This record gives sequence, C-alpha cells and structure tokens, in this order.
Amino acid sequence: MSTRGRRRTDRSRLLDAGRVVIKIGSSLLVESSTGRLHRKWLQSLAREIARLHRRGQQVVLVSSGAIALGRRYLGLGRDQRKLEEQQAAAAAGQIILAHAYQELLNRHDIKVAQVLLTLEDTENRRRYLNARNTLETLLELGAVPVINENDTVATAEIRYGDNDRLGARVAEMLGADCLVLLSDVEGLYSADPGRDPQARLIPEVREITPDIEALAGASATEFGSGGMVTKLVAARIALSAGCATVIASGRRLRPLAAIEAGKPCTWFVSSGSPLAARKQWIAGTLKPRGELTIDSGAERALAAGGSLLPVGVVAVSGQFGRGDAVTIRNRDGRDLARGLVAYDSDEARRIRGRRSEDIEALLGYRGRDELIHRDNLVLISGGAP
Ligand code: GLU
Repeated sequence: MSTRGRRRTDRSRLLDAGRVVIKIGSSLLVESSTGRLHRKWLQSLAREIARLHRRGQQVVLVSSGAIALGRRYLGLGRDQRKLEEQQAAAAAGQIILAHAYQELLNRHDIKVAQVLLTLEDTENRRRYLNARNTLETLLELGAVPVINENDTVATAEIRYGDNDRLGARVAEMLGADCLVLLSDVEGLYSADPGRDPQARLIPEVREITPDIEALAGASATEFGSGGMVTKLVAARIALSAGCATVIASGRRLRPLAAIEAGKPCTWFVSSGSPLAARKQWIAGTLKPRGELTIDSGAERALAAGGSLLPVGVVAVSGQFGRGDAVTIRNRDGRDLARGLVAYDSDEARRIRGRRSEDIEALLGYRGRDELIHRDNLVLISGGAP
C-alpha cells in the first residue's frame, strides 16, 4: 500500500471510531524532574478530547499517574518496592489526578466520572457486567469515564499491573472501535532505536507473530510500568475484540491530531468489527446454561435481526445467572440462536410471556426491555442477526 493511501486509512481509523479508549501513560502526565502533574500537556489533551466529543465520538480515558503523583505528594522517595507505599501513594495521587481531569475537561463543558477497576472486574463475569453497565450509562449521559486500576486494594497477585492491559480490557468490554496507547515511544521499531541507527518504525501490524513479539524487548520507562511487551499484549487483546489499536507518542502537544495527520505511529489492525468478534465469542466460546423456547412471532423477530423480548418466550429451562449464555429454541425443539440473557433464570420464568412494560411490576425493579438484546444474540443458522 502506498504511503499516501496508508495515511488516509490510518487517519480514518481514529476519525471514524464511534468509541475511543485512550490510555495515557504516567511518563506523559508526570514531569520526571519534579514529579508534578504536567498541566500544560493535559490541558492540550483536554482540548483534543473536546474536539472528539464535538465530532460525536465517545471517549473513555484510562489514565496512569496516580502512584507517581502520590509518591511526591506524600514525600516518598522513588524506590518503588514497598507495596504498602505504592498503595498509599495511589490513594493520594488518584485524587490529584481526578481533580485535574475534572477541572480541565469541565472547561470544555465535559463531565468526568472516575471508575477504579480491579482485575476481578474484568475477569469475573458478573462484576464485568456491572462495570460495563456503569460505563455504558456514563457514556450515554455524555460523560468521559476516567479509569485507573484500583491500586490501593490491588496486590501483586490480583492486579493488571499495567494500564496498557487494563485499557485493552476496557476497550474489549465496551466494544470500542479504537484503542490509543499514548506513551513516550512513537511505536514499534524494527530494532532498539536508542542503539541501532538502522531501526525503523513499523507503521502497521496485521498479526502479532512471534517475530513481532521478539521486537518488543523490555523498555519500561521511569514512571510507567508498561513497556512494549505490555503494549503488544494489549494490542492482542484489543485486536481479538475487533478493536484497532495504535501506539503513538504523547511526547508532543496534540498527540491525537498527530495520529490523524499520519505522523509516525504503529497501527495494529484486524479485519473484524468489535460486534462480529463479540458474536463469535458468544457463538463459540461460552457454554449455554439454559434454554429458552420461543413462539413463532419471536422467531420471526430474531430472523429479522431483532432482540428477544420476554413476551415471545414460552418456556425457560435450566439455572442461569444474568449475563450467562443460553440456547434459544422454537417449539419444534430446533436450536435457533444463542445469546446472553439480561435476567437470571428465576426472573426469566416470572417475566416470560409478559410485556416489557410489566417487568417492573413483576420483578420490583425496572430492568432492560429485552430478555436478550440483539447485540448479544447470534443466530445458529441463517446468518447473524
Ligand atoms: N495504575 C498505575 C498508576 O496510576 C499505573 C500503571 C501503569 O503505569 O501502567 O499510577
């Protein structure tokens, strides 16, 4: 592909993304000489986020920097070995960080909301759904979620440890179209650019092969815990969720505009869309925990790409929780689809055959109208809805 052609495509990957997750590394936010927040840089990023917002794009920030800021604030040295000190530093630094985002984004009339996650929140299905619902609600309300790891309670065994991976999990969770990893490097190089003058930036990676992994090396920076290795892990997670990923330098003001302008960076791209990847996961990976038998009206609705409403369900079998996979059958016992349910099996039994308006009266709370939303539904034959 020609350079001009490639640049045009690269530009559109960020421009056309409906939902963008931006991971900001500590080394960009915290001045290495003073340990203070790099306000000018953050101000410029806030302007860029406002620009994305005006274009109608949803933005999620995954920001590091709490520990580095908190260490300085609490008068701790740079020796980062003690876990209790790290946790204390995170507790103090997170407020500084959240305050800065709030102040700088509020200037653009953008609301921010802080979400602190632990590994459990993305690996445990129930907590995953809760976290996802909260983030979806914030995005619907037009807010920018500012996410970090909950470092005050995370210990070595139960933490992501680096925000690259956390960013990728968040991108996967939200079906983001684009993950931007901003750090102090311009991208992936064919060799260590610090040592090898022949080293060249790789503009695009379509598959993370062992050869690509071998290029990563261990390039941890002073403040951040991630290096190229964790960025590749992140890119792999995001790609398998159909989310394009870009590693780009934030060592400039307006780093997002630079990506859009085709400045050097490394794109990781896959052919699938986030929705297609999610559907593949539902169809192939999850073990169904129950069955829903549906009437012919619901069968027609599914075939036409619609969601499954409680009114079309005639029978519920098995024990399942909210978010579990179930098989959908017609009255003849033919498997039609697979999907993730929005209600557990007891609730599903209570609302089956009833109209969505009655859900609140039947269950005592107002849940989703659909028993299975079409984004969580895959037809077994006849193509995906
Ligand atoms: N969560 C850590 C912090 O806020 C940073 C982890 C990372 O550098 O990737 O300080």
